[in-house]
Amino acid sequence: ARRPLIAGNWKLNPATAPEALALLKLVVANQRALESSGRTAELPDVAIFPPFPFLQLAVDAVAGTGIKVGAQNVGLEGKGAFTGEVSASMVRSLGCQLVLLGHSERRLLYGEDDEMIRRKVRLALDGGLDVVLCVGETEAEYEMGLLPAVCALQLKKALHGLQPADLERISIAYEPVWAIGTGRTATPAQAQDAHAIIRSVIAELFEHEPARAVRIAYGGSVTPESIDDLMRMPDVDGALVGGASLIADKFSRIVEFA
Ligand code: 13P
Repeated sequence: ARRPLIAGNWKLNPATAPEALALLKLVVANQRALESSGRTAELPDVAIFPPFPFLQLAVDAVAGTGIKVGAQNVGLEGKGAFTGEVSASMVRSLGCQLVLLGHSERRLLYGEDDEMIRRKVRLALDGGLDVVLCVGETEAEYEMGLLPAVCALQLKKALHGLQPADLERISIAYEPVWAIGTGRTATPAQAQDAHAIIRSVIAELFEHEPARAVRIAYGGSVTPESIDDLMRMPDVDGALVGGASLIADKFSRIVEFA
């Protein structure tokens, strides 16, 4: 069985380091309480993706817990004259283990295309970071019946050239753009359909076993109220949580899904 992944994407929040530290303390206290409840075996993998300036604070704060810390992005180069960029090795050297790539906000607001995302996936893996790769269709694409085509294209382009062993270091997050920050969570059935399609695309690319093993998390307005039914779906292996991950008690309740 796939071990679920519950991850919090803090996006551009909170505004200051003291606020980040306060949130980290609450998240860590809740995680410690869950871990000391004697149900450790039942707990999912937990990860948080704070903004770059708070990564070191986060790595220090989560020490001794099972929480992993990741960056929300990395740049397109390893080193050199690239003012303002951040490399995978820099992030890794802080003690981070993960990076989020291909988020729709990067694609739609910052012009990241599939080729850039493919290069970043390779750089991240080579730099020692595991990847959470986001895919998902817009509302217009959904209404045109293009969910399967859009997700397949995003996956095939981002994963092009990778080996099955690389896939062991990649999780997928299905995030329909129409569900992000809108309160319009996909229904469990909608999420299941999309995740099954994504798994079949991975099977096409990498054969059956990697497709069976890869984790596919759902993202888009996940709340403590919606998590349990989503997690009952056979191909939903976790959640990528935005807004609710900024409220420690909500995030903890999602981690504790039934
Ligand atoms: P919300 O949970 O705020 O809808 O954000 C989802 C998301 O984009 C996580 O990456």
